[in-house]
Amino acid sequence: AKTQGKNSYRVFHPDMEATVHAQERLESALRGALDRGEFTLHYQPQVRGSAVTGVEALLRWTHHDLGEVPPDQFIPVAEDSAIILPLGAWVLDQAAAQAARWQAAGTPLRVAVNVSPREFAQSDFVERVQGTLTRHHLRGEWLELEVTERLVVRDIEAAAHKIRQLRRLGVLVSLDDFGAGHSALSSLMKLPISALKIDHEFVENAEFHEGGQQLIQAITSVARAMNLAVVAEGVETERQLNMVRALGCDQVQGFLFARPMPADDLARWLAEWRAGG
Ligand code: C2E
Ligand code: CA
Ligand code: CA
Ligand code: CA
Repeated sequence: AKTQGKNSYRVFHPDMEATVHAQERLESALRGALDRGEFTLHYQPQVRGSAVTGVEALLRWTHHDLGEVPPDQFIPVAEDSAIILPLGAWVLDQAAAQAARWQAAGTPLRVAVNVSPREFAQSDFVERVQGTLTRHHLRGEWLELEVTERLVVRDIEAAAHKIRQLRRLGVLVSLDDFGAGHSALSSLMKLPISALKIDHEFVENAEFHEGGQQLIQAITSVARAMNLAVVAEGVETERQLNMVRALGCDQVQGFLFARPMPADDLARWLAEWRAGG
């Protein structure tokens, strides 16, 4: 079996064969999946106090044989094989189209889109975003891009420059999975971002480990000093909600409020939420 892309330097072990096969199978299933219309976007609300501040668009893939494949499985394969480029462009376009529909319906919502390092690295990425906004007559402030620190490992100045250009379009940029990587805080703080997102694993962990709570506390105090919002992800219980709020997270996202869902369901959920249901 052959390995490709950025993992190709790895020493090959026989027990990796199954993994490689699974990846190759996924990769060939991914080819053409866009043309077959197998992808959809689900939206998960983000809440501050009792207000819905926006939604995160999350990709869903239902393959005709494999069934539903979770993004944690297929996104890395898409990234390794460059399929992420057309796929990411599709996500951005769909999300912007949906944001424009919500505007037209009188229920404007900001949509946050996940951007992989490879997409962000495209030299014309900012132009692509601008083109998408223009195509859908959408002001930049209704779009947020979620990036991870993996995009800054090579050249932080270049990343900061690109984010600055995006901010000039009105687009918000937040740093996803904050605390999960290994970049120095001092360099991450050079990025002109508007929010930090704390991954659900940290929220889960903090419930039972004091060290986890201290980590969240440290993140929120840095954020406050930098004038950044903090979004806690994966809040599933009232207990977790109270905890992350006490630790200084102003925005929350999680199953406690709503699972990611199709746009139609979200409209119904939103109507109930606003009616205080
Ligand atoms: P992420 O960006 O960290 O997204 C948050 C994940 O947490 C989502 O998983 C969401 O469904 C899940 N989640 C939300 N609330 C809860 C909760 O209360 N409890 C738990 N346990 N989980 C919760 P999902 O949708 O499976 O996506 C997984 C990852 O795949 C995302 O992590 C993101 O890194 C990637 N991804 C998803 N859609 C896209 C996309 O359109 N483009 C790119 N590049 N990556 C995407
Ligand atoms: Ca995200
Ligand atoms: Ca995350
Ligand atoms: Ca994650």
